Amino acid sequence: MSRARVHGAGPTGCLAALALAQVGWEVQLDDPLELPVLLRRQRAYALTHSSKGLLDRLGLGQALGPQLVPFSSLELMDQGTGRQCHFSSADLGQRRRRPWPFGAEEPLAALGAAGPGSGGEGEAVGWIVQHGPLMELLLLQLQANPQVTLHLGRPAPGAPATLAADQAWDQALDLVVGADGSQSASRQAAGLGWLEHTYGQACLTVQVRLRGARPDQAWELLRPEGPFAVLPLGGDAFQLVWSASARRLRQLESLDGAAFLDQLAGALPDQLQPEALLDQPRAYPVALALAWPVAKGQLVLVGDSAHRCHPVGGQGLNLGWRDVACLQQLAGRVTAGRLNPSQLAGAYRWRRWPDLVATLLATHLLVGLFSNRSRLLLPLRRLALDLLNGAPLLRRLSLAAMTQGPCRLGQR
Ligand SMILES: Cc1cc2nc3c(=O)[nH]c(=O)nc-3n(C[C@H](O)[C@H](O)[C@H](O)COP(=O)(O)OP(=O)(O)OC[C@H]3O[C@@H](n4cnc5c(N)ncnc54)[C@H](O)[C@@H]3O)c2cc1C
Repeated sequence: MSRARVHGAGPTGCLAALALAQVGWEVQLDDPLELPVLLRRQRAYALTHSSKGLLDRLGLGQALGPQLVPFSSLELMDQGTGRQCHFSSADLGQRRRRPWPFGAEEPLAALGAAGPGSGGEGEAVGWIVQHGPLMELLLLQLQANPQVTLHLGRPAPGAPATLAADQAWDQALDLVVGADGSQSASRQAAGLGWLEHTYGQACLTVQVRLRGARPDQAWELLRPEGPFAVLPLGGDAFQLVWSASARRLRQLESLDGAAFLDQLAGALPDQLQPEALLDQPRAYPVALALAWPVAKGQLVLVGDSAHRCHPVGGQGLNLGWRDVACLQQLAGRVTAGRLNPSQLAGAYRWRRWPDLVATLLATHLLVGLFSNRSRLLLPLRRLALDLLNGAPLLRRLSLAAMTQGPCRLGQR
């Protein structure tokens, strides 16, 4: 049986461990954080169809179902030009099912709510899931999986207490997966490059109750100070991801509840009225970054250890889970004897770069085009939104790029 060590039990590392186990690998997963800390992050993720497809193939779609909040439309609004574009499930088009490469039958759960060959009216455009319930499910599945050994709350690998045990297990290791976040020790130890661009923006997350908002509608507001996402959490609860300069967000963080809601009312369109804060606003730095290369020797990087992007369009975690899907496909070939384990990292490196570069570039261009007050760019922005509104095919292609990744357009 092939062996892998996964460093980092964030959402990407946990999924990578489950994906490798599913194709017959023995996996050790370690993280210096204890379980309660791993569950605690205050964040909700917008999941795309590429992520939902992977969850379904891993047999997690049904168990996670009650925690997924589907949205059937996405409202894109450029507040600089007043133009708006409405994406609905009709813009998903009809999708072909891709063949399941790991065994005769794709798990039944993979059929999802809308069934085979699904797409079109009635299907969700995307789903929102909160970090806590997602991680709880992933960690429960890992604990129950006989092929996975979990080491949580240990010192980071390489510390003296763990060195002997690590060395014994590592003697027959085929693969090391670095899923240890943007400060990745795995990446640094391997001497891989890290190309990084920091934005003049940070982003603030907060959960609120809104009046006037539909519970099945998500919003991406393109504001001159930065993009602003409104993501439904069920009922009248919403997660907001508010991008602006770090200075402005620090000021917002320091306001009391009533003053924060006043500022929020000024940022949202008139039909969305903030009623109450459900948690504490928190600001995070944002950056565009790419490890180069994303794999070397026995090491493969996945998730934020390999790349970071601006949260516009909610692409970060979804891109990391597409890393996992690619890794699983290659690991499945190793199990089937069709790929030498020593060739896995090289194959991964070449397969991932088009999706990584295209997605990072797309988010960067969106931020560059819309997060400014330049009058010169206004005609271009009007044209872009008018084209999207007037051409259903363009709307469909844009939504496909967002939800399946820019490099899968031809496969829909
Ligand atoms: C405000 C905000 C909103 C976002 N919204 C979305 C969204 O809507 N949709 C979306 O797709 N993405 C979103 N993202 C991006 C998403 O949060 C990240 O891409 C995702 O959390 C990355 O997960 P990860 O598992 O790769 O890394 P992390 O979540 O950073 O996990 C890394 C893990 O590695 C562990 N670790 C660290 N060092 C070591 C070590 N030496 N050895 C072992 N383990 C180690 C850490 O303890 C941690 O548990 C958002 C990001 C921000 C900032």
